[in-house]
Amino acid sequence: MSSSNHQVRLAARPVGMPKRSDFKFTEEPVRDLKPGEVLVKIQYISLDPAMRGWMNEGRSYVPPIGIGEVMRAGAAGRVTASKNDRFAVGDAVTGGLGVQEYAISDGTGLIKVDTKVAPLPVYLSTLGMPGMTAYFGLLEVGQPKAGETVVVSAAAGAVGSVVGQIAKIKGCRAIGIAGGKEKCRYVVEELGFDAAVDYKHEPVAETLRKHCPKGIDVYFDNVGGEILDACLALLTRGARVPLCGAISRYNSKEMEGPKNYLSLLINRARMQGFIVFDYADRYQEAAVQMAGWMMAGKLKSREDIVPGLETFPETLLKLFTGENNGKLAIKVADE
Ligand code: NAP
Repeated sequence: MSSSNHQVRLAARPVGMPKRSDFKFTEEPVRDLKPGEVLVKIQYISLDPAMRGWMNEGRSYVPPIGIGEVMRAGAAGRVTASKNDRFAVGDAVTGGLGVQEYAISDGTGLIKVDTKVAPLPVYLSTLGMPGMTAYFGLLEVGQPKAGETVVVSAAAGAVGSVVGQIAKIKGCRAIGIAGGKEKCRYVVEELGFDAAVDYKHEPVAETLRKHCPKGIDVYFDNVGGEILDACLALLTRGARVPLCGAISRYNSKEMEGPKNYLSLLINRARMQGFIVFDYADRYQEAAVQMAGWMMAGKLKSREDIVPGLETFPETLLKLFTGENNGKLAIKVADE
């Protein structure tokens, strides 16, 4: 007997913040597997700021999601049927499985994970794509050295929280920028950052100057906009700026560039964009390292899990309002 699959599809290209009518909710039977395929029952769906960009028309690092297509998403679940020798029924897996209850995969990009090492949602978080982003973005692009000052924005989020913790592990000073007192308290008291700037209630440039008396050696940019400008103004000579994201601009019609970019010239500094997928062949190396740090109590992971596939449009907005506390995911089925 085939199962019924509930899905969320893109119905229209959003203008500004996405709204419920930009999505269509569909239900269809799960089809039979062909040779080489596996059926995954999805338990957790990753909600990522990048989803907003994938909904837009135009050239990017991946093609836009087509109108009528299932929303692209990373997800984690269990194999419930398999015609692929690499996967057995019961295996826990992650991959680009979409915003739906069941996904059929030919195994491409499907990764087996060990839920004895960490609970399944952590594989969408610190031991998954956001953790890899922090690891390679900071260590490969940012190249921090012990004693340097590392500043990261969206510091209480999935990527930013890991960036600051790795900076501390590497012997750097870590300064976070986050929205609200509670998030700032969290990154300092629970994650061990040296200081945090509450950009919603404090003057960013002035407060950063106080926390970074010798300037900023690495600014890991997750947000763009005015915060990027404030950080550029404080760069040290030879500073590195990994350009990870620009969430403050994802719902804007116009993409403004930084005003203070000449700071790069004056300081012989480097700003470099990167996409985590370019490091896919090294994920295993990073996962082993980070799992070790987690087991040693040096790296904490926090997930913010919202139940219900039908909440997708509103839950996604939490990323843009800052209502998420840690890696945002939707739970669609029990483990
Ligand atoms: P997240 O930090 O868990 O959630 C997004 C956070 O962004 C919100 O909680 C909010 O925190 C902050 N934010 C939203 N609007 C803002 C604004 N206008 N100004 C300042 N902060 C704002 O999300 P994430 O998954 O870790 O992603 C963080 C960034 O990394 C995003 O830009 C994303 O696109 C990027 N990313 C890039 C790659 C890559 O390969 N390059 C891969 C993954 C993610 P506050 O409450 O602190 O405002």
